Amino acid sequence: MKEYKVILLMDMDAFFASCHEAIDPKLKEKPLVVCSPNSRAIITTSNYKARSIGIKSGMPYFKAKKLSNNLNIATPDYQLYSNFSSKIFELLIDEYTPKVEVASIDECYIDATNIWHKYGSIKKLCLDIQRKIYKEFKLTCSIGASYTRFFAKMAVSFNKPNGVKIIKGDDYKKEIWQLDIEKMFMIGPSTAVKLREINIKTIGDLACSNVKDLEKVLGVRGRNLYNCANGISSDVVLAESSQNKSISNEFTLDVESNQFEELKNYIYFLCKRVHNRLERRFLMFKNVSVLLATRNRNGEFIRSKSIVNKSMQRTLNDYSDQFNTLLNQAYNIFEEFFDNQSIYKIGIGVKDLISKKNYTYQSTLDSINQVSKNHNQELESLKKNINLFYKKDVLYFGDNMPRESFKQTKYIFNEETHLSNKQIKKSKK
Ligand SMILES: [Mg+2]
Repeated sequence: MKEYKVILLMDMDAFFASCHEAIDPKLKEKPLVVCSPNSRAIITTSNYKARSIGIKSGMPYFKAKKLSNNLNIATPDYQLYSNFSSKIFELLIDEYTPKVEVASIDECYIDATNIWHKYGSIKKLCLDIQRKIYKEFKLTCSIGASYTRFFAKMAVSFNKPNGVKIIKGDDYKKEIWQLDIEKMFMIGPSTAVKLREINIKTIGDLACSNVKDLEKVLGVRGRNLYNCANGISSDVVLAESSQNKSISNEFTLDVESNQFEELKNYIYFLCKRVHNRLERRFLMFKNVSVLLATRNRNGEFIRSKSIVNKSMQRTLNDYSDQFNTLLNQAYNIFEEFFDNQSIYKIGIGVKDLISKKNYTYQSTLDSINQVSKNHNQELESLKKNINLFYKKDVLYFGDNMPRESFKQTKYIFNEETHLSNKQIKKSKK
């Protein structure tokens, strides 16, 4: 018999708005919207007070003002969100399990198969997670639990905010199948129109339809959706693994943007995430890439080939583990390719990865000059101190280099000579 996994999808409630409330609780008292402070701005997120009177993401600010004359407004602060986000994911990894897959700034999958027993039940584990996150950050989240990623994702919206929903066994037939087809994760308005044309109005209609008909309308995706709706879909949580050859994070904007500074803020957040993941796995990177996804003229989402595939990446001269190197490369690429187009998804990736312990620093003439000019004295005293500490010469430089005991393959001789391996071998004889 197949062993079922326990997959959780944790989703923060009204995340951007809640972050502002967490650092300024006064904001909770009134409807709050997150958007730029101008009358033409579009609302990024609203708190639940605002939602209860019909103020939602994507709505222009001036419309929201008509619905409430008592509105609080918070300017988007991506550094704030990114800080909360990283800390929340770290808490999950540290306190519960490393099997956490970050899906977006405020959402992650957790494979709880091997840990839920400790809490007595899946429900109790979910409540424990909610309690800890609230205690630590004053933020609420909702959790969906099931045996596939798809059901967990569907379950999470059942009891928002601060809710837990578990879908077990055949529950999905009565819980999920009754939902409107547009409520199905992965189905947008245009796919819904196509499905309604073949008389599929609910998720149940799709689950019980003929898969061949779905394939005619949606291609391979049709079969995938059919499987998901019938409980046959992935239960794999891709936890951070050092096997990965690349690391990337993407972020889909709630509302498309062509605002240079706002997009740069997203890049900052994504670089933070990518860098955190590199740090956790002791990795260095050599190649940086940026993804900017836009819509085409018909309003369909595209990844512009000319942009993505060509040169939106840079390879460095040497491996780096520095956040600023990553960020500056990403900014440079973005600044070169951004042309005021409306972006709906943005991503940062690194590849050519190497473990820090396998990395040996390659000195270049530039770096040697730099060292000798700026740090010669510091270097000398450091060398002296190290030798003093060991009460013998363990570090040799230049003229003091002993001829008989070469350990290094390369070394600096009188600041300019560079001995080859052959010469070193010779001198050993
Ligand atoms: Mg959320």
